[in-house]
Amino acid sequence: MESVPDSSSKGLILLDRDGVLNSLVIDPEQGTVDSPLHPSQVKICPGATEALARLKQMGFTLALVTNQPAAAKGKTTKQNLLDVHERVLSLAQKEQPLISRSYICWHRAEENCVCRKPKTALLEQAIQDLGPFSLDSSWMVGDGLTDIQAGKKMGLRTALLARWKADVARVAEEQSASPDWWVSDLAEFTERLLKEGKGL
Ligand SMILES: [Mg+2]
Ligand SMILES: [Zn+2]
Repeated sequence: MESVPDSSSKGLILLDRDGVLNSLVIDPEQGTVDSPLHPSQVKICPGATEALARLKQMGFTLALVTNQPAAAKGKTTKQNLLDVHERVLSLAQKEQPLISRSYICWHRAEENCVCRKPKTALLEQAIQDLGPFSLDSSWMVGDGLTDIQAGKKMGLRTALLARWKADVARVAEEQSASPDWWVSDLAEFTERLLKEGKGL
């Protein structure tokens, strides 16, 4: 896909694809969750299209950075994965192109390539092609810890989409059971309580 350089950009937002733009595919028989392996399995996450349009409107440059090892693992064909990607792009950006470019790692972990997240080659390439950007106003957004690791290595701001947490938050809201703090464990609770005691 052609890059769309934009020197007036507010910053770069690098997006993971699976679990961010499109839903993961659940195989009820195997009990597994995977990326779509065929274009017929592509479903766009609720609100994702609108969110992309909004981010673009805010002046951000948007790009995708995604690991797609399924063909290398023999689960599907490279052509299917290319078709999946095209379908995600066409469904997620209905009226106008919002995503400047996609960067894809096709390798398996065992191949020890330079591009598979949490490594940073895809992110570096995006910044080089589409930038320059101020990194402290740029983001890596994903639903995997490897997305966060890669973003942090590059000095980007990071956001983890933890859907279960968002779902729990919504239900908590509905049931008037929203807690004052969301913490990941007792250690974080203790840390925050200590900071509060010190007036931080
Ligand atoms: Mg993902
Ligand atoms: Zn790779």
